[in-house]
Amino acid sequence: MIIDCHAHFEPRMLELERVVAKMDAAGVDRIALIPAMNDPLPQTPERLLAVMRKLMRRPSTRALAERVHRATLTRGGDLRLGREVYAIYAQPDNARLAEVLAAHPERFFGWIFLNPAADPHVLDTLERWRHAPGFVGVKLHPHWHDYRTSILGPLLARCQELALPVLIHLGFGRRGAYRDLAAAFPRLTIIAAHAGFPFYDDLWAYKNALPNLHVDLSSPYIDEALARDAVAAMGPERCLFGTDAPYGFHEEDGSYDYGTIRGWVERMPVSAAQVDAMLGPNFAALIGLS
Ligand SMILES: [Zn+2]
Repeated sequence: MIIDCHAHFEPRMLELERVVAKMDAAGVDRIALIPAMNDPLPQTPERLLAVMRKLMRRPSTRALAERVHRATLTRGGDLRLGREVYAIYAQPDNARLAEVLAAHPERFFGWIFLNPAADPHVLDTLERWRHAPGFVGVKLHPHWHDYRTSILGPLLARCQELALPVLIHLGFGRRGAYRDLAAAFPRLTIIAAHAGFPFYDDLWAYKNALPNLHVDLSSPYIDEALARDAVAAMGPERCLFGTDAPYGFHEEDGSYDYGTIRGWVERMPVSAAQVDAMLGPNFAALIGLS
């Protein structure tokens, strides 16, 4: 079973029918979708991503990467890239995704997107959506929603109680205090997006202290070499196939290329069984599917 555990519901870039057709062509059984949190974005140049990866991997230069990131956030919390401003949605639309999940229960799972910085009733919002068919966990994005992870306490306590996994795109510094979170909620399943962006090696080093911490291998925030390092450090059992579609890797016709990251996983220097597990069963186990 092949499951993409990290993709975005973004019909403005890739219509749902095309997603399903592409899944069939690529042999992807299921995708865990995230509600859109921003206006459709242009492709980030690979050269810039490569520089950012280098800066972030070293603790001594990570602050520089943080400054680059902060320069892209407007006062109003939107994203400025070049001359264009792209809205970041304080409250991503879970209702829209719920409709998709209801219509395609055999192909999609969903992440409930929550933002405690903009939602004073975030626990109620969680209650509202957690029973909707197809939702399997909570997505958090302190990086773009720009909040300190210390405000997540009550929400994560509830997720732990409910055994709901949390997919979190960590931010820099106190916007990504993964050690505190994982230590405070030892039974909570935490999946750090993009191999632990922006901490990478530093996060992997806490593997033994934080046994509930996993990483997904999605997005060109990482590359094949970094994905390999993540798997070597965390162990394949803690690594999950994900894409970040429709962002990232594209085919010549402009549509998403589901093969690139899967190729990274398939070429990992681990056993065939471990490759298979990373492609789906590891995630299935985390969401209680197997
Ligand atoms: Zn993403």
